[in-house]
Amino acid sequence: MIKEYAVIGLGRFGSSVAHTLFEAGNDVLGIDMNEERIEDNKECVTHAVVADSTEETALKAVGIRNFDCVIVAIGDDIQASILTVMVLKDLGIKQVVAKAINKRHGQVLNKIGADLVIFPERDMGERLAHHLMSPNVLNFIELSEDYSVEEMKAPSCMAGKSLRELDVRARFNLSVIAIHRNGDIIISPSPDQDVHEGDIFVVIGKNEDLKRFANME
Ligand code: ATP
Repeated sequence: MIKEYAVIGLGRFGSSVAHTLFEAGNDVLGIDMNEERIEDNKECVTHAVVADSTEETALKAVGIRNFDCVIVAIGDDIQASILTVMVLKDLGIKQVVAKAINKRHGQVLNKIGADLVIFPERDMGERLAHHLMSPNVLNFIELSEDYSVEEMKAPSCMAGKSLRELDVRARFNLSVIAIHRNGDIIISPSPDQDVHEGDIFVVIGKNEDLKRFANME
């Protein structure tokens, strides 16, 4: 389904979000108060307009109320980021996603009603550290402090064995909930499913068990 997104602030982060949404076939409005940024990005979004997002009238004039989701990608100017989120929530935008540059900024954005607050630098730093410690782990979602879902390369010592033989649940206390194989995905694999070289597991469990599993020789 095509959704309509507006991205406010076309710096490195905002332009990357905007281009990715646009390339995936969505309608994307890019907004920045810097004309040069608009020039640089106008080919990679549906519309690009110069506007100061702290001004309610300017946002109304570009029809911001028609958008399902607005991403506020202003970082350095914390005041502008906060004012923009306030205006958007006042205008009744359902989903406002805002980038925070530090914890305090994030707390304020949450307080004034941002629906999702993201910390790109902090999160990328965490992901890189996890990847360096466990190169087999390709992706993860933290469910709580102790539990995660991880996407990981199946250790090569497992190739040719079935999930039953590997006894992942009893040995590691983990569940393999899906396997990516040659572009296909096997959901809820049966215990008789053989593991192939190059398989990517989606595994759920405790972080310490996931770490043991991912680093298995
Ligand atoms: P990034 O870290 O994503 O590269 P940046 O360092 O280029 O960002 P930021 O201060 O985070 O810069 O701002 C991102 C963009 O937001 C800039 O292009 C800036 O012109 C724009 N911007 C800042 N304030 C406003 C505002 N009030 N209205 C519209 N655009 C704004």
